[in-house]
Amino acid sequence: MNKVEFYKETGPREVFCGLTSIVWLHRRMPDAFFLVVGSRTCAHLIQSAAGVMIFAEPRFGTAILEEKDLAGLADAHEELDKVVNDLIARRPEIKTLFLVGSCPSEVIKLDLATVAEKLNKRFLGRVQFLNYSGSGIETTFTQGEDGALKALIPLMESTDEEKLLIVGTIANNVEDRFKKIFKNIGINNVESFPPRQSTDLPKIGTNTKVLFTQPYLSDTLRDLQHRGCEILYAPFPLGIEGSTKWLLAAAEAFKIPDLKVHEVIAPLANRARQAMESHKKILKGKNLFLLPESQLEISLARFLHNECEMNLIEVGTPYLNKELMEEELKLLPENTKIVEGQHVENQLDRVRKSQPDLVVCGMGLANPLEAEGIHTKWSIEMVFSPIHGIDQAADLAGLFSRPLKRNQILTTKTLATHK
Ligand code: SF4
Repeated sequence: MNKVEFYKETGPREVFCGLTSIVWLHRRMPDAFFLVVGSRTCAHLIQSAAGVMIFAEPRFGTAILEEKDLAGLADAHEELDKVVNDLIARRPEIKTLFLVGSCPSEVIKLDLATVAEKLNKRFLGRVQFLNYSGSGIETTFTQGEDGALKALIPLMESTDEEKLLIVGTIANNVEDRFKKIFKNIGINNVESFPPRQSTDLPKIGTNTKVLFTQPYLSDTLRDLQHRGCEILYAPFPLGIEGSTKWLLAAAEAFKIPDLKVHEVIAPLANRARQAMESHKKILKGKNLFLLPESQLEISLARFLHNECEMNLIEVGTPYLNKELMEEELKLLPENTKIVEGQHVENQLDRVRKSQPDLVVCGMGLANPLEAEGIHTKWSIEMVFSPIHGIDQAADLAGLFSRPLKRNQILTTKTLATHK
């Protein structure tokens, strides 16, 4: 492995909690419902994070724990029961109901696993109940997906059939494109987890080869390993380089020669390289600082340095799973500074001192930094945008070049008005 510098930091954090992942999970599995067992703050977070996507019948809601519930569990159970009964009566299309824990439910030690077990008995054959934690005490925002997927694994039946399993939520159109590429390479039995319907879970076993699309699924990885699945370690499919190596890892596992992969993807890669040129002109030589939030930071840093020629000042990540990230770390330039964890004040001091051209950070930090004249990119946009795959490389680069371009235009206009 090349020489990457690792640091650890603890202290005050400024990140979204795991509830946020409901926003993309409910889009992926339209037959599932996510019931947050939390406070009004939790309800507001979900409403504002998903605000643009709220329609007549949303697929998430909150069972509100009032202040009096914090003093006694009886009221909390009663409230939860009432909300669940109403929901199931009103929404017969719900097939899976996730009870999502929050800071308040954890503080009062509400045992959602037992609640889910009881509800499973009561609604047997109609709705399946699962639970996981989205609490900000222990999760950052992408880890909510890890919890949801881990909760689904025990429901997956066993099989000996050889297959490729793509794990991690990606946009449906991106998934279709990946499946087409795999077919052209010669891998036909490809399934996705999470699936498009919560009840349509893939079967897994010792002949299942797992390729992750997202780097934040450490618990899911462990449980799939326990079920005997073979994990294929590769860089994540962001940019041309990451996507190519990701496809090559799958091909190797199915004993398909590298040449076949290169033949299939050559036209895509050529098109992507051309489409990236205009973005690269803006990004080349610019200094980048990534604050920890999504766990996508290391893959993004690799893409923005290797394919867009940006300089990496610091790469923050809320949590570093070296096993899952090994292939990514190998691709980073010498002496890249990786900081695991967060002491937000110290990090902001380092941002101010280094005066980067662009900071990738959470929404809560973006406005104050912009007010100080430091340009930012919200890390949450990476999980809401289709950024995976070779064809999306230019769009991914565009997410970072746009704020810099906008700034160039504004500076030019301001200079012109002051002439
Ligand atoms: S789970 Fe915790 S961090 Fe998240 S919105 Fe609720 S109270 Fe806030």
